[in-house]
Amino acid sequence: MVFQTAFQNVPGSTMAAKVTKVRCPQCGGEALWGPENKYRPFCSERCKLIDLGAWASETYRVPVQEETAEPSADFSTSGKPPLSK
Ligand SMILES: [Zn+2]
Repeated sequence: MVFQTAFQNVPGSTMAAKVTKVRCPQCGGEALWGPENKYRPFCSERCKLIDLGAWASETYRVPVQEETAEPSADFSTSGKPPLSK
């Protein structure tokens, strides 16, 4: 058995504010991935709005899933349970 101790080898890793950057799916630029970026995975509000616009007007389509919520068997209308004496 081999133990990977990668996490222990990180120097000075006491909750270091690590900035993760992802690629903005809209413009391809760098987008900050963190709680301070509320538009993630987009880089900015603009890119997010553009993408939302694409959703609303273009090819993206979310199939509406109809939930057939059948109520569980209704015994109240199917007769009374036999009374035991
Ligand atoms: Zn962008």
